[in-house]
Amino acid sequence: MKLSKSIEKLEYSQALESDKEAMEWLEANGRKFGQFIGGEFLFQKNADQIKVTNPADSSILAAIEVADNKTVDLAVTAASNSQKSWHKAGGHARARVLYAIARLIQKHARVISVLETLDNGKPIRESRDSDVPLAIRHFYYHAGWAQLQESELAGQEPVGVVAQIIPWNFPFLMLAWKIAPAIAMGNSIVLKPAESTPLTAMFFAQLCTEAGVPKGVVNIINGAGNTGATLSAHPNVNKVAFTGSTAVGRAIRTSTAGQSKKLTLELGGKSAFVVFDDADLDSVVEGVVDAIWYNQGEVCCAGSRLLIQASVGKKLVAKIKKRMETLRFGTPLDKSIDVGSLVSDKQFEQVSHLVKSGLKSGGNLFQCEKPDSSKNYYPPSIITDVDSSHPLVQEEIFGPVLVIMSFRTQPEAIQLANNTRYGLSASVWSENINRAMHVAPALIAGVVWINCHNKFDAACGFGGVKESGFGREGGKEGLYEYLKPIKLKYKATKGASGNKASSTSNVQNSTSSEIDRTLKFYIGGKQVRPDGGNSIPAHNFDGSISAWVGQGNRKDIRNAVEAARKAHGWASKTAHLRAQVLYFFAENLTVRKDEFIKRLVETCGVKKPEATAEFNATISRIFSYAAWADKFDGAAHDAPYRGITLALPEPIGIIGLVAPDHQPLLAAISLIAPAIAMGNRVVYIPGDQYQNIVLELVSVMETSDIPGGVINIVTGDKNELSTHLAGHGEVESIWCWGDSALNKSIESISIENLKRTWCHENNDRDWHDMNSGEGTEFLRKATHVKNIWTPYGD
Ligand code: NDP
Repeated sequence: MKLSKSIEKLEYSQALESDKEAMEWLEANGRKFGQFIGGEFLFQKNADQIKVTNPADSSILAAIEVADNKTVDLAVTAASNSQKSWHKAGGHARARVLYAIARLIQKHARVISVLETLDNGKPIRESRDSDVPLAIRHFYYHAGWAQLQESELAGQEPVGVVAQIIPWNFPFLMLAWKIAPAIAMGNSIVLKPAESTPLTAMFFAQLCTEAGVPKGVVNIINGAGNTGATLSAHPNVNKVAFTGSTAVGRAIRTSTAGQSKKLTLELGGKSAFVVFDDADLDSVVEGVVDAIWYNQGEVCCAGSRLLIQASVGKKLVAKIKKRMETLRFGTPLDKSIDVGSLVSDKQFEQVSHLVKSGLKSGGNLFQCEKPDSSKNYYPPSIITDVDSSHPLVQEEIFGPVLVIMSFRTQPEAIQLANNTRYGLSASVWSENINRAMHVAPALIAGVVWINCHNKFDAACGFGGVKESGFGREGGKEGLYEYLKPIKLKYKATKGASGNKASSTSNVQNSTSSEIDRTLKFYIGGKQVRPDGGNSIPAHNFDGSISAWVGQGNRKDIRNAVEAARKAHGWASKTAHLRAQVLYFFAENLTVRKDEFIKRLVETCGVKKPEATAEFNATISRIFSYAAWADKFDGAAHDAPYRGITLALPEPIGIIGLVAPDHQPLLAAISLIAPAIAMGNRVVYIPGDQYQNIVLELVSVMETSDIPGGVINIVTGDKNELSTHLAGHGEVESIWCWGDSALNKSIESISIENLKRTWCHENNDRDWHDMNSGEGTEFLRKATHVKNIWTPYGD
């Protein structure tokens, strides 16, 4: 046989990574794991057990105990007991511990990679070259932030005890992704790995002891969904960080509503991979491999919707099919395979079922091999001839299945890419920088890759919008998810604890000289009468009527949101222009100084100096956010690749603002100004007590070039109006200062469209306090960061 012929016929032989060390470790632990609590490995008597299997051959690797409610409580208590001293130890002490963890993972990188592959079914090449190195990077990177915490994150403190619930697709990387920032900032954590992939977390627990993590700072508990549910709802948990399915994310939002917990949800996706006709098609093919066949497609940000410009559609699909023929499947420990096993029988059945039932709605399936249930192998698959409403185009499959559609023009590409309820990530493929940099910001997603896909780094925030959840992990923005500002609570000064009308019914009819003043709503730039035709009196402190204000209802809220929607052009105005509008507003308000001071005195019952201070602080606050408008401007991250990652703060959209009662002028501006400075539109509901004050601002707003619909104000029953706002599908975020019942209902109702909520007790801050009443906390809440990855070089 000629040499060239025999080369063609050469078969790959197996290049197996040894599992000896990993098996020895499992044996040394009796192939049984309990819980890691307070620095000890604990086993319960008669505990339920879950078998941990290797999905590639169904062999049993170990068993884990299921933590019951008492055990969950023990773990939370251990975390709680350790947290204060861990925080007090200081940033440098924490940096040393994180650094030690990173070094130890490096030393044990091989056994961790093998364990991960045995447990999850992913190719060893990926756990060895991607998951574990990235996990190490997370600990190094966050060791740095711990060191810098006191200087760079002053005015912030840790949230306390954090519950972290992670999925099975990147067990070790997700663990690092969650634990590193949390403990770096001085929190203690209780982490629950997925029941099917707990092994590397147990290995990590042992490293914690070696690295000198104080007892109780890191606790790891095993179990199924119920354990996660008990943990996230535990009253002593101050924050929940969850990654997993949208359904469970919603369940966690429901169970934690009203508990004053911070929450980040990193949920599913159906990410678009958009290819223009000027893209380098050979790079695109490799990009597709990375986007949808990396980790068997079990990736929340997998590029699972390929959108190709029609003129290159046929050519590209042919190239992809050819490449699919060369993808190798085999035992996950084989160093030369591309695709491993799905994580479990359950996931294999889920993917098979979704594809089979989806194809009933049309579409053509292409696979080079048949699925093999004995190894949980589902082959790389593409589905063509589907339209955007097809179930396989809309549903997350979480397997190696790519749907392919085409588009003709750039606007159509953007529209198709955004036609999903998810918003985690997307990628744009074009050799034309102008086009790529135009399309990337137009894609509604937390992460956008240009000419690449599935790139991650600890320095670059990751997280979604819409039903992909909220909050960011990684980068500086990720740190704030584990911090809270040190706050000065509001204490009413003598005489300013509410006007007399609220408790004295017989003063309702008292009159002042201004009784005939009726202050209307402010909607779409116009003063508008209430839909229901009812007005209610707003009282002065002495019980006399200051003015009548409208009593809003659901229809008024709908009108206000519609007006806000129509004002979407505000987001694309330049930051300079938004700043100018705010300065002009402050200028016009200053002219009315005496009148506002008089109103504050009359309405709130404060003395003139206090009212003057509130007015002056209000003007200063408008100036602050005018100043910030063109300075809160993102970053360029230096991630370890040839390229630059742009972190761009984007406005959230329509924000519902539900105000506290106290300091009504300053509070109104403290909420409205940062939101609109960042390009959002707002619907404002004042506190019950001094509803007239914010409406007095309307005539100033009208003359200050604020476009109609950017600020909308509806008065009436705060509880009723804010629940209508929370239930509105087009409101993307709600900031609420209310009692605990109102906060609970806002958080519960907001589950429907996974709105971001930021709920507080009424008096949780003094609006004069510069640390908690003003500043970047508000700007961060008014934006989400989009990370745009832009590689360069040939
Ligand atoms: P889940 O969302 O059910 O699981 C994620 C984590 O949450 C696991 O640790 C799980 O525990 C835990 N959990 C389950 N129920 C609850 C609950 N009620 N309260 C608190 N924690 C809970 O994902 P699945 O593993 O069931 O996968 C189902 C689908 O979810 C996949 O097919 C995929 O579409 C999607 N998914 C998305 C991920 C992402 O990164 N966005 C990751 C994983 C899955 P346990 O494993 O013990 O049940």
